[in-house]
Amino acid sequence: MRKNNRIPLSPCLRRFRFYFDLLGRTTKDYLFFTDLQENLVMVSPNLVNDFDLPGEIMHDFDTYWLPLVHPEERGPYQASISKALNSQGPCEHNMEYRVKSRKGEFVWISCRGRVGLDRDGKPSMFVGTMSRMAQRNQADEVTGLLNKYQFEHAVKLALAQYRATGEGGAIMVLGLDNFKIVNETYNRMTGDIVLKRVADLLANVIPPPLTLFKLDGDEYAFIYPGGTAEDVAEIFASVQSALSRPQDIDGHQYFCTASCGTVFYPESGKDYLVLHKHAEAAMDIAKREGKNRNVLFSKEQYNRWVRSISMRDSIWESVENGCVGFSLFFQPQVSAVEQKLIGAEALLRWKNPKGRMVAPMEFIPILEETKLIIPVGKWIVEEAVKTCKKWRRYVPDFRVSINMSYEQIKDLSFKNFVEECLERYDMPTDSIVLELTESKIVADWSFINKQFDAFRSQGIAIAMDDFGTGYSSLASLKNLSCDIVKIDREFVKKILENDFDRRLVQYVVDLCHSIGIYCCIEGVEEEAEYELLTKECKADAIQGYLFGHPESVADFEEKFLSLEK
Ligand code: C2E
Ligand code: CA
Ligand code: CA
Repeated sequence: MRKNNRIPLSPCLRRFRFYFDLLGRTTKDYLFFTDLQENLVMVSPNLVNDFDLPGEIMHDFDTYWLPLVHPEERGPYQASISKALNSQGPCEHNMEYRVKSRKGEFVWISCRGRVGLDRDGKPSMFVGTMSRMAQRNQADEVTGLLNKYQFEHAVKLALAQYRATGEGGAIMVLGLDNFKIVNETYNRMTGDIVLKRVADLLANVIPPPLTLFKLDGDEYAFIYPGGTAEDVAEIFASVQSALSRPQDIDGHQYFCTASCGTVFYPESGKDYLVLHKHAEAAMDIAKREGKNRNVLFSKEQYNRWVRSISMRDSIWESVENGCVGFSLFFQPQVSAVEQKLIGAEALLRWKNPKGRMVAPMEFIPILEETKLIIPVGKWIVEEAVKTCKKWRRYVPDFRVSINMSYEQIKDLSFKNFVEECLERYDMPTDSIVLELTESKIVADWSFINKQFDAFRSQGIAIAMDDFGTGYSSLASLKNLSCDIVKIDREFVKKILENDFDRRLVQYVVDLCHSIGIYCCIEGVEEEAEYELLTKECKADAIQGYLFGHPESVADFEEKFLSLEK
């Protein structure tokens, strides 16, 4: 429908009207033609319709247009128009900004206009096109933010700016934590609502005139020319606080935090692809380090990340091929007073495809993250039970301690597997001990205790590993039902010089004994430590280099079992 507000055309507009209408039929873009002398504009009917303007011919266009321009872009819009119209020579107005449509939503439009001069060199007309960026695949459909192609364009502009002026800056890429759960638990529509809400929250937090972009999936980004590490930290703190309030989705409360990777240009890269890759890597590191945090890119950390990615592939391969490359080493445990071999702790080892031994600190977190610790954990139990059976021929009460990750205890098939394995090898339940690090236990004491009690009721002992390294060791002693406490080397290290640490170990052992818990001290390296721990602290068992390092099955048999034969 054509809207006609009956304003007569100026001679200049009349001259071009025919061509203007003809051109309008060839494109979805919006056209405008302004007679600057008369301050009269002629626009294509689609602009009138989509933005509910009074008519195709308007006096003083900006009285209608400016109120529709997004408040954040009104200033820059006016500045750009006034620069184009007041310049001495022909000048362009090229700008992307948001305008409120007839539906009341802000849409991104890209405007390209040019000022034409009359014979005296005075600006006489202003002509151009506007296009909706979503139609040209430039805006994200869900959030209305500019999309990844625009982000790429903006990063390239920022780099050009750096080359021209020497001013660098920061790029922050934010990814929602656990967004997959929203899509899985609810549906994509709910997911879209969350993405849009987060977009609005983030847009409110980042300081103007920075622009928020929407990348693929659940990621957002923005560029901060001149941004420093302090600026970035401040913005991220605001992001955290904006996202700390629960979102209400279909009546459910949902917490949606974000992890962030920050790169500085030109320090961390001088081209778009490198900067983007580095920012994504830093964000992935932020997620792996526990989410809801910001990681500033560093080359060393990136190299470690690349190594862990390739390690992850090799580990998958090892596991798929029946745990090839994995082996168990065993470290002897001796009774404190008699120094008799009573058992060993099974410690996992992994040789990468190049044959290099990788430290457990490097590969165990990967096994846990990928949940591969569940199949590998079963393999460990089987190997440990098999080995224990063999060694019981030399030491009848030999016990193998097996490390267990939190992931494994959450897996309800683990307990059945352990029991079935003991049965298969015809081994009593007191031949194994399951160790769990208390610092890994997040909160759910009652669930853990239920699992522990299920094992204990079968006669399988539970040990609390690394006692003294968590935040609330004494509290966990009270809350967790266990049979053995393994006091960490951290405590042992200083007992020779430090009276306080010695007394602390003494009290912990005392306390454990008073509630019937057995104490094993780890990391004993020196004779003097052993003397103190046994005589004064009254430890029950000792594990440490003083009595033996972790050894392969063959070496263990040769070093520790030949005498017992
Ligand atoms: P952890 O369970 O506390 O194991 C004891 C660690 O202390 C072992 O390191 C051992 O070699 C080391 N150690 C023993 N005696 C001494 C000593 O006298 N001095 C010093 N400085 N260190 C000593 P390792 O083998 O590198 O294992 C590191 C960690 O990896 C283990 O700590 C455990 O948390 C994890 N891990 C090892 N094997 C497994 C496994 O099969 N499953 C799981 N879930 N975690 C495992
Ligand atoms: Ca352990
Ligand atoms: Ca330990």
